[in-house]
Amino acid sequence: MTIENNEKPAVSNFIRTIIDNDLASSKHTKVVTRFPPEPNGYLHIGHAKSICLNFGLARDYGGVCHLRFDDTNPIKEDVEYVDSILADVRWLGFDWQDKLFYASDYFDRLYDFAELLIMEGKAYVCDLSQEEIREHRGTLTVPGKDSPYRGRTPAENLDLFRRMREGEFEEGTRSLRARIDMASPNLNMRDPVIYRIKKAEHHRTGDKWLIYPMYDYTHCISDALEGITHSICTLEFEDHRPLYDWFLDQLPVPCHPQQIEFARLNLTYTVMSKRRLLELVQKGTVRGWDDPRMPTIAGMRRRGFSPEAIREFADRIGVAKANSIVDFELLQFCVREDLNRRANRVMAVLDPIKLTIEDYPEGKTELLEAENNPEDPAAGKRQIPFSSTLYIERDDFDENPPKGWFRLAPGAEVRLKHAYYVTCKEVKKDADGRVTELICTHDPASRGGWTADGRKIKGTLHWVSAEHSIPAELRLYDQLFTIADFNDMEEGKDFEDYLNPDSLSVKTGCRVEPSLAQASRGERFQFLRLGYFNVDDDSTPEHLVFNRIVTLKDSWARQQNK
Ligand code: ATP
Ligand code: MG
Repeated sequence: MTIENNEKPAVSNFIRTIIDNDLASSKHTKVVTRFPPEPNGYLHIGHAKSICLNFGLARDYGGVCHLRFDDTNPIKEDVEYVDSILADVRWLGFDWQDKLFYASDYFDRLYDFAELLIMEGKAYVCDLSQEEIREHRGTLTVPGKDSPYRGRTPAENLDLFRRMREGEFEEGTRSLRARIDMASPNLNMRDPVIYRIKKAEHHRTGDKWLIYPMYDYTHCISDALEGITHSICTLEFEDHRPLYDWFLDQLPVPCHPQQIEFARLNLTYTVMSKRRLLELVQKGTVRGWDDPRMPTIAGMRRRGFSPEAIREFADRIGVAKANSIVDFELLQFCVREDLNRRANRVMAVLDPIKLTIEDYPEGKTELLEAENNPEDPAAGKRQIPFSSTLYIERDDFDENPPKGWFRLAPGAEVRLKHAYYVTCKEVKKDADGRVTELICTHDPASRGGWTADGRKIKGTLHWVSAEHSIPAELRLYDQLFTIADFNDMEEGKDFEDYLNPDSLSVKTGCRVEPSLAQASRGERFQFLRLGYFNVDDDSTPEHLVFNRIVTLKDSWARQQNK
């Protein structure tokens, strides 16, 4: 499962510079990083960036990356999420070896450390409510006010804290707070809460605990207990770093990891908050966490994005110190590049119209040879059946074509890919005037799609044989949201006001070439001229379903070349 580091040399960045210096100065001899998800939702593409970064550094420096569940809030957490996270990290191609941890495994030690802080006068039990604590905290310009309980003696605090643990007090009536500095210019240092009462069942520790440690307290200690060297997190934790360091300076922990912040990934047209994604799932706005429109790893996997493409994307965006928003097209570009290399080309017709070749023997079937992937000679060739009755794309015919139209029109000649040149002789319509059938002739000398006379045919169409092709459902996707940057949301509007009503369009009655009957779930193809598709999880031999992964059009690359 580990990725051999043969992809390409890593591009340096400020985090690598820090690590290089730490190794050069012998501050560290081995790099230990961690990826610390909270199991309260599925991972998304932002997490993928963090996974590629943390596991990538461990890989490149011959170190190790721990996978640690930050499971300190039992109310929102669930084993379903734990399992999905394990599967997603593995699928992305990373290996935590035997370094799988849970913050909940440290609950005993975290508790002991809290008693130690209490005994040293560095923590106290506070009876203020959450609301009152907020009121006492002050603002950036106004210093905080001391809690009336700040002066309690260590003995009194220890007694109350133990009784909190025993469940004697109701939720919200007491908390344990670090005793730091209510006048600190950093709000995080104004006596933050480190334990709260929560009479909730935990998915790992059951009903053992009635108090749970807060993230800021748990995280730094977990890092230290695991011997993490570089604790890499997103920018919003920059202001928490003094607190991270404060706890570790007070406590007898085995080491003091360095917290390093980088800018989180933001993508255009994408929400990247687990809370909002959960809302979409719970309300049924999408079909689930793995809906192909979701920016989750599970969604992207189902959509047909490969782990290689996602890793390439993470490499290309790099890491920076300043927040920015990445164009979704860049992700699609990486997906397309990867698929171009390895997806076999096949033919499918999205919106079929019948094409009959009147001078081709009825009932005859011919097998024509087609190259599977011009980018990969090893992909070989296959045989496609051809007959007198075909389907082509309705869009590929125009009875009154505009100037410069190279596709089919009355009297026009086009090439059928891998097959013959055909000329349209007659157009049949139903009572409503809708075209139902095109009657054509073919040039037998053009077998394979070219002629010895070298005459130029500009239009090349894809097709399937009516009798041999199989029906299929094609699902086409567009962005889930209509707004590129959620910072531009209008006042009073909610993110759900920007849902794209056309994000999914289901096409039934499509026809695909017979070789696709054998395709396995998840297998990826290029449907000539239509885009890249994969076999959806819903697909069965009786009812084939394909997802469009990306279109062929590459507007991102074109923009860059302008
Ligand atoms: P929340 O804490 O609100 O539930 P979260 O997205 O921070 O959501 P975590 O499970 O705490 O979720 O994240 C795990 C790791 O992934 C953290 O180290 C976090 O910094 C990182 N991460 C989360 N979102 C992004 C993002 N958009 N870009 C890069 N890294 C991210
Ligand atoms: Mg978080």
